[in-house]
Amino acid sequence: MSSYTLIDGKQTAEALLVEIEKKIINLKKQNITPGLAVVLVGNDKASETYVRSKVAMSERLGIKSIHKELSVEISEDELLSEIESLNADDSVHGILVQLPLPAHIDTEKVLNAIDYQKDVDGFHTLNAGALSKGLESTIPCTPLGSIILLKRYLGDLSGKNAVVIGRSNIVGKPVGQLLLKNNCTVTYAHSRTKDLPAVCRQADIIIAAIGKPEFVGSDFVKEGAVIIDVGINAVQKEDSDGNSKRRLVGDVDFNAVCDKCSAITPVPGGVGPMTIACLMYNCLYCASMIHNVDFEMSDDLRA
Ligand code: NDP
Repeated sequence: MSSYTLIDGKQTAEALLVEIEKKIINLKKQNITPGLAVVLVGNDKASETYVRSKVAMSERLGIKSIHKELSVEISEDELLSEIESLNADDSVHGILVQLPLPAHIDTEKVLNAIDYQKDVDGFHTLNAGALSKGLESTIPCTPLGSIILLKRYLGDLSGKNAVVIGRSNIVGKPVGQLLLKNNCTVTYAHSRTKDLPAVCRQADIIIAAIGKPEFVGSDFVKEGAVIIDVGINAVQKEDSDGNSKRRLVGDVDFNAVCDKCSAITPVPGGVGPMTIACLMYNCLYCASMIHNVDFEMSDDLRA
């Protein structure tokens, strides 16, 4: 019989949201209402869905939500001036530009145009640099959520061997920085890594952020490892009646690895709910920093 723990992202996200909501009520008593601006360029269906859920979550928590829908044909200069006006708006504490942006717009330029104090995604070069130096910064939402989950289920991470598969600026690199901050011995693996399964078999912790459905198989996993599956991939799969259905799967082949590992996040229901909760966390963090209010989360809800 298998004895792995299912790391429940929905439950931890809910605990985080409850704490955030209480802190927002306290901020409001000081006449501070956190405001989050979400900027969507174009009409990519997946982006529209993400934006809708971010706006709905802001509203649930009492965060003032500003939603800008801009034409796919907007020029870079026009987008930059939209951001400038949000930077100057005192009712806005967090600005998120939904990615990807259309090809004619320089994404890096746009992300760096956001006031770093309002950078709820943690993608500004100043925040990325601060994180890598171990300084105070906003932390990208998915890495933040992944580490909160890990620590909640594993406790102290000191001395653990962690392998991060993926080195993107959005997930892989920052998640590795956070593991390092928590005293793990960190290996970054990527598409040029030789004998990836052998590298991963050294790991007490595997973070899979690859973008390839069910890529991590049983030969990647040593007995007792803990797996955080960041991947979200839509695939067509047959259900028990033989009908083909669209389903979400992770970067890890859950059924192949679950009996080998000691704990694993499901997809959906693992890192996904943590990402949106951490966006709210970052909005609260930015509002607190801007207004010089103490920001302290419970011990089991910190990265
Ligand atoms: P990117 O495409 O930016 O990065 C993928 C990384 O995986 C790259 O570093 C790449 O290596 C590496 N990689 C690709 N193929 C292989 C391979 N065959 N062997 C080893 N490494 C490989 O993706 P993201 O970081 O943005 O996202 C990763 C996953 O996380 C995706 O499934 C995405 O949908 C999901 N995601 C989930 C979120 C959530 O809320 N749960 C939020 C954000 C992302 P190289 O650098 O060498 O090309």
